[in-house]
Amino acid sequence: MNFSSFSLHPMLLKAITESAYDEPTDIQKQSIPLILANHDVMARAQTGTGKTAAFALPILQKIITLQPTLQKLRVLVLTPTRELAQQVYKSFSTYGQFTDVKIGIAYGGVSTKKQITELEAGIDILVATPGRLLDLLQSEHLTLDNIQTLVFDEADRMLDMGFKDEINRITQRIPQGKQTLLFSATFADEIYQMSKSILVDPKIVEIDDKNKVAEDVEQIVYGVDADRKRELTSYLIGSKNWKQVLVFTRTKQCADELAKEMTKDGVKSLAIHGDKSQGAREKALNEFKEGKVRALIATDVAARGIDIKGLSHVINYELPYNAEDYVHRIGRTARAGNSGVAVSLVSTGEEWLLKAIEELLDISLLQQWLPGYEPDLTKISKSDKKPMSKKNARNNALSTGSRSSKRGSHSRGKRR
Ligand code: AMP
Repeated sequence: MNFSSFSLHPMLLKAITESAYDEPTDIQKQSIPLILANHDVMARAQTGTGKTAAFALPILQKIITLQPTLQKLRVLVLTPTRELAQQVYKSFSTYGQFTDVKIGIAYGGVSTKKQITELEAGIDILVATPGRLLDLLQSEHLTLDNIQTLVFDEADRMLDMGFKDEINRITQRIPQGKQTLLFSATFADEIYQMSKSILVDPKIVEIDDKNKVAEDVEQIVYGVDADRKRELTSYLIGSKNWKQVLVFTRTKQCADELAKEMTKDGVKSLAIHGDKSQGAREKALNEFKEGKVRALIATDVAARGIDIKGLSHVINYELPYNAEDYVHRIGRTARAGNSGVAVSLVSTGEEWLLKAIEELLDISLLQQWLPGYEPDLTKISKSDKKPMSKKNARNNALSTGSRSSKRGSHSRGKRR
């Protein structure tokens, strides 16, 4: 199957050819015909599967073939984070580059002036984060009266981030009869609840990319003492000459501290997280993309929507509490058919996090020890041998993970 099977407009096919896409991905094959046929769609797909083009191409197609250049806001795409908004905006701009469809973007953390000027000039499609969108609605710089298509991108993350009220307030201002598309990495209960109130007779598309993750990404797990994680991270990047590495931490503080310490180790690093200004986040991301910075240290939320072409290495300095975030994290690499390596560092007290990931993915991740960085077995005491409660394990993981100077108290060695 190729893109011309969808009878897309030549201006879109030209953009697809320029993007060097040979054939549609699974999510595109399934979603594009449904969206073109005006169905509401509920699609489960991770970032990295080509989901943006899966909704952007049919949306652009409908605008250019039905009512071109109206420059009245007809399509609203909601994203949880500014980074994802930028990414989606960029994709729309790329796919629509040979058309005269006007695309706008609105997100918080920056002045509204430029965004308002753009809105006043007239746009067909707006990509926005919920908070800024509501600000613009309240100040009457925007109306949703003509919306024909509403897209929720990464709806699960939107709910995780507490945008439920904002979503309700936004959907109340959109007329009935619109087409609604909901993309989510998971179909958790809350997503089903949300879908019931906003989708009408939706077609369900599910892309099972759990195995895809296992196939395309080499997953390595190193057992290491908590207080040697930083040293090991710098050593891996330096000794293996990895040029561009995305490193994940659970907390902003840990990201900041790690970036500082790794830079001292000679691995130029910057942190990216929600407490950084939009300018600082963009600067860090650009320097990373340009190769001026070797390691980008990110929290899960900040990393949403980051698309770095050809990223080959991800390090989980700390495993996430939510096993599904692991899939998102390692999905930053091995995108669009490339291969990648994901290294996870696990210290004592964090094994349960690894187990949750193994259960979710239905795979076994064997823990290895890197010579010179083996966990210190002399630290095992009698009390350490007792199985830890989940709560204690979580507290232990929290304290050892976010304060890299504190030594992990024991090690149980290889898991299997
Ligand atoms: P997404 O899941 O939308 O974040 O897309 C992930 C990456 O896949 C982006 O870098 C896209 O440019 C790329 N991509 C999207 N569709 C295709 C395709 N059909 N063939 C190759 N790459 C694609």
